[in-house]
Order: sequence, then C-alpha cells, then structure tokens
Amino acid sequence: MKKTVPLIVGNWKLNPVTLSDASDLAKAIARKQKSISEPYVAVAPPFPYLAEVGKKIAKSSVQLASQDVYFKNIGAYTGEVSVLQLKDLEVEYVIIGHSERRAMGESNEDVRQKVLTVLKHRLVPIVCVGERERDDQGNFFTFIEDQIRNLAEVLSVAEMKKVVLAYEPIWAIGTGNTATAEDVKEMQIFIVSVLTRIYDRPTAKSVRLLYGGSVTPQNATELHKEGDMNGFLVGGSSLKAEDFSDIVKAVVQS
Ligand code: PEP
Repeated sequence: MKKTVPLIVGNWKLNPVTLSDASDLAKAIARKQKSISEPYVAVAPPFPYLAEVGKKIAKSSVQLASQDVYFKNIGAYTGEVSVLQLKDLEVEYVIIGHSERRAMGESNEDVRQKVLTVLKHRLVPIVCVGERERDDQGNFFTFIEDQIRNLAEVLSVAEMKKVVLAYEPIWAIGTGNTATAEDVKEMQIFIVSVLTRIYDRPTAKSVRLLYGGSVTPQNATELHKEGDMNGFLVGGSSLKAEDFSDIVKAVVQS
C-alpha cells in the first residue's frame, strides 16, 4: 500500500439490518469504483455480512475491512471473531480501538494486543485515536499523545510503519460537527511530531494518517486538501453509495 495514494474506508457500523441491503450497498459501491484503482477504497460491514460483501466487491478495486477483531485466534471465546477468520474471508484492514468500542470498555491494552495480532497475520490495522472534547488549554493534545505512546510502547519501527492511524475526535463522530481543516492540519503536524519524538522522522512520515468525523461530500475537498492527512475513515456518509463515491471523487480531485 503506497502512502502517497489516499485511503478511504467506509465504516458501516451496525448498518444495514438485512443481508440483502448490505449486498445492494456493496454492489453499488463496487460499481462506482469499478474503473478506479486509486485512491484505495475499503468498506467495513458488520461481521455477518463480510463474506457476502466480499463477493460483491471481488471484481472491483474495493477492499474488505473489519470493524474489530479479537486478539485470540481460536478457542473458547464466545462471541468473538479471530484474525484467522478475517484472513480467510480476504479482509485486508482491521479497524481497532474505534471510540464506540472504547466506550464499551475496550482498553489501551486490548488495542495493543489486537494490533499485534493483526500485524502478525499481515493485515493492516487502522487504529483510532481521538479526544472526547477540546479544551482551551490544549490538554486534548496530551490525550492523543498518550494514546499513541501507549501503542508505540509495544511496536517496533517496522511494525509502526505498517499501522494506519485514524484521528477521530469523538465530538465530531456522527454529530455533523466536523473538525475544521485547520484543526485537522494542526493534528496532522502534532501526530507527526509525536511519532518523530518516539521513533524518528522517516518512521513518522511513513505512518498513514486518516481523518474521521462527519466527513461528507460537501466538506471532503477542503478537509483533504487543507487537512493534509492521507485519507478518511467515513461513517454515516459511507451508507449511501452516491455520497461515498462523491467523497472518493473529492479526494481524487483535490
Ligand atoms: C466513524 O464512525 O468512524 C465516523 C467517522 O463516523 P461519521 O463519519 O458518521 O462521523
């Protein structure tokens, strides 16, 4: 995966509620991406739809992503999904530490274990970081730095270079309150400086950064152009093929 080529991932969360709607959405997205190989585009449907969505996107450039994974591969872990099962379904990316999962109790330690498991099996982890709220003193920067340092403690340079970091301020997720392009640019500079201090500049520069939080076809151009990240993690707007494809087009054109 070349970092210079942006990556746009659609996180479907707990949508849609039927296999048939999931299949239609996958088909529509695949149709729109058929002749486009760049930017990279991936969709993360709920687990029960992975196989079907995988079939529908198979002849397009759209790749399969998962919304989570468990850090054990096999055994007595009721309700969990393993990286081996994801691999078997040709999943390429795994979202880890989404704020909605952290709100359900996922810890930094869980995130570390999951990232290590995913890297070991050569899938790409998309690790979400983001503050609950912003304060005038800038304490949210420390919060983001702590989340990154916590992960970095267990990752070598080579491993860190394979991680995709998604900056998703919680106050911007599903609220319509998008971060400004200036906020995104500021965070991009901050994350690169944190990674440079922990590792070195070449490593920091090679980690792909995504922005997520109420990205729409209307704000995608400015966020991509001025925000200077390497793509988007998209929730709500990935549930309509037209909107998702317009976000991809905005990235291509900006
Ligand atoms: C998300 O859930 O990762 C997300 C960014 O959601 P939304 O685009 O709906 O804010």
